Amino acid sequence: MKYVYFFGAGKADGSTKDTNLLGGKGANLAEMTKMGIPVPPGLTITTDVCNYFIDSGLYPDELKSQTIKSLTSIESVMKQHFDSPENPLLVSIRSGARKSMPGMMETVLNVGLTKKTIPGLIKMSGDERFVYDAYRRLIMMYADVVMEKSLGVVPEESDGVREQLELIMKQMKADKGVLNDFDLTAQDLKLLSEKFKLKIKELFNKEFPDDSQEQLWGAISAVFNSWNGKRAVSYRKIEKIPGSWGTAVNVQAMVFGNMGKNSATGVAFTRNPATGENVFFGEWLLNAQGEDVVAGIRTPNPINNKMCLNDNNVLTSLETSMPTIYTQLNIIQKKLELHYKDMQDIEFTIQDGKLWILQTRTGKRSGRAAIRIAVDMLNSHLINERDVLLRIKPTFLDEIMHPMIDQKSEKNAVLLGRGLPAGPGGATGQIVFTANDAEKWKESGKNVILVRTETSPEDVPGMHAAEAILTSRGGMTSHAALVARGWGRCCVVGCSELNINLNTKSLNLNNTTLKEGDWITLNGTTGKIYTGKLPLRDINLNDSPYFINLMDLIDKHRQLGVRTNADSPKDARVARNFGAQGIGLCRTEHMFFHPDRILTMQEMIVAEKKDDRIAALNKLLPFQQKDFYGILRAMEPHPVTIRLLDPPLHEFLPSDDKQIENIASSLNIPTVRLKKRVQSLHESNPMLGHRGCRLAIAYPEITSMQARAIFLATVQLLKEGFNPNPEIMVPLVGSVNEFVHQKILITKAAKAVKKETTTEFNFLVGTMIELPRACLTAGLIAMEADFFSFGTNDLTQTTFGFSRDDVSGFLPTYLADNLLNKDPFQSIDREGVGELVKIAVSRARNTNKSIKIGICGEHGGDPDSIAFFNTLNLNYVSCSPYRVPIARLAAAQSTL
Ligand code: PEP
Ligand code: MG
Repeated sequence: MKYVYFFGAGKADGSTKDTNLLGGKGANLAEMTKMGIPVPPGLTITTDVCNYFIDSGLYPDELKSQTIKSLTSIESVMKQHFDSPENPLLVSIRSGARKSMPGMMETVLNVGLTKKTIPGLIKMSGDERFVYDAYRRLIMMYADVVMEKSLGVVPEESDGVREQLELIMKQMKADKGVLNDFDLTAQDLKLLSEKFKLKIKELFNKEFPDDSQEQLWGAISAVFNSWNGKRAVSYRKIEKIPGSWGTAVNVQAMVFGNMGKNSATGVAFTRNPATGENVFFGEWLLNAQGEDVVAGIRTPNPINNKMCLNDNNVLTSLETSMPTIYTQLNIIQKKLELHYKDMQDIEFTIQDGKLWILQTRTGKRSGRAAIRIAVDMLNSHLINERDVLLRIKPTFLDEIMHPMIDQKSEKNAVLLGRGLPAGPGGATGQIVFTANDAEKWKESGKNVILVRTETSPEDVPGMHAAEAILTSRGGMTSHAALVARGWGRCCVVGCSELNINLNTKSLNLNNTTLKEGDWITLNGTTGKIYTGKLPLRDINLNDSPYFINLMDLIDKHRQLGVRTNADSPKDARVARNFGAQGIGLCRTEHMFFHPDRILTMQEMIVAEKKDDRIAALNKLLPFQQKDFYGILRAMEPHPVTIRLLDPPLHEFLPSDDKQIENIASSLNIPTVRLKKRVQSLHESNPMLGHRGCRLAIAYPEITSMQARAIFLATVQLLKEGFNPNPEIMVPLVGSVNEFVHQKILITKAAKAVKKETTTEFNFLVGTMIELPRACLTAGLIAMEADFFSFGTNDLTQTTFGFSRDDVSGFLPTYLADNLLNKDPFQSIDREGVGELVKIAVSRARNTNKSIKIGICGEHGGDPDSIAFFNTLNLNYVSCSPYRVPIARLAAAQSTL
């Protein structure tokens, strides 16, 4: 078995094809090496070894010999030797999973520095300070990663070894009266390293290892163990990455960006990851190691002059500082993007005037950037239409539909400060200072903004709970920026004027002090920070040529129609703007709650005699006619499926005594009578009770009124020159007899309106399919119906026998215990509910070839469910207005 893959000096055992085995990082290092890009030589230990090690705590027999063999190859490329006192080679040990998990697993740098090798490195580099700086970093990282985290000891915040060592360093800086790490001398750092080692001995009761091999294998094991660390596990959960993938480990020759004034390190993107603009974008730090850029300890410089101009940044660019290296880097970044045909995120180091590329990977980007990049790459023939559509994740569209701060309010708002615009969009929320608080406050229904000096992977769950993230340190490639952008979350970083006081739970920004719980608003597109709660506004996507371009492409490739669930003209217009091709479900019950008619509705419900009920319904008719007029007009000439009254009647009546009294007096009836009626409508199981068509079978006059209102609105619109297209839908049908009963009433109402108004019009009559019996007898029902619309909410409820309203009581346990792998009310249960849908579609199409079939349950907006419905050749899915673009995309993707 091959466990170790070498790369270096233009040759590599692996390539991008081996991503599953070598992880993204390892596979790309191999690929870059083969492309002739200057990559420090190294070896990758496979993900198979990770799984073996995690299961057994052991390594496969041949691992050590294979590692030694590849290490020898690294030595011969570098002309240095691991553990050599003369000419020592140092290595970095890094994780690398199939899919990038930025900062979630561990890294140990400078491995191989010991009492034995230190003098050699001092001689080689001629820089004692540099060597002790590398040494103190190794000790800190090793203690944190190998001696503490890898042992599964998760200390309380601020009790960890890293924090304690940082405290020692802080103390030393204070004693010396210096501010910056780089003001410490070689002697200071040497002393610091000894202090670190003493502290480690005190904490762990064992020495920091002074043996290169022990350091090497300790670090490798710790990186494998970090696959199951708390942060990595919680990130995998959010990103749905299976635990069985494992991580690879990369052991690579160290190159140093902190070797003096001719050395530097940086992170770059081949295009702007926030906007998608096709410009080389990145950050760098002089005389620093890579972790300094990503950890946000120092605010980095922009990579080129274009960035300086765009962001009004006065820091010196790499282009100005090291023009030759910049040109070389620019050529490499172009080559990499062309090779991978996607935007790349590149890490580089300059050691004493020589450029090294440490990593390339597909860059995380905002939704807006993803769309622009894909469309631009299509236009320049780098990728094809299929690539474009498959690259756009549904969450990208979700994200760009996120609101922005209302422009007018923003103009008049008090600007509190400014940071770097790391994640676009607007967000408003109450300040919290810890990730834990963010989670807790969110759980109690509050919108929060997480404010931190910088974020670390431990903060990920809290960052996820927050509306937005604000940090005082770090650049556009800091942890906070990367993670927030990946989720499409609003984020502002590197606001250097921001001071946080965790003791008083307050912040100070440009002389304003705010406390925990105070409201702020962030503009993640410009980096501006405001006090207070500013109104957010939806953006008009149709203003963006890239969005329009993408949506055209989507429509070209999809077969499934997309409608919307809407019961007001406003929602209908929003959805239409997003490309809805009709209304798939207009729930009429919402209309009766309007204050101008709820009392009349209650009067209708409490009526004991048919005549009284009809009198109340006649009063409701003009309201309904107006409602239907509005919605049919907003959607014409597209179809509008109007569902007749569905919920049990008691939902419209009050439950407490005071309200009953008030309503009785408004309706001018005795309170006891109303109470009795309320009691008589009470049901033990209302969801399976007197609702849906059962209601209109008991009270046919309700259907007659609603149908008449729809037809009168239709005629009115026709007379005004519009082209209304009503489809009347009967809810909760379980047998063809129920459907026919209602269809007769509807047809009769149509006939009457046609006669009275001497106007002809078209309409369809169909049914919801939301009961298992309706699915099984779909062949019979379809002989009578013009269309079916699957109500997968009720169908899931009735198939599982899970109450939709009470499922939260036990569903979390089902999910935690893996009895279900997803919430069947969110994503269709293909095996059970899906099977019933399949049966119903096939039986219906057998007896009625032209029957139109759609779905209008919540699943109509879920990409995975849409993929399933696409396989059944449904005519359309219907979802809430803001899901329409996502449903269109999902429909196209499932076709591809
Ligand atoms: C359904 O049951 O799926 C449906 C769309 O109807 P409602 O959610 O209104 O019951
Ligand atoms: Mg339903």
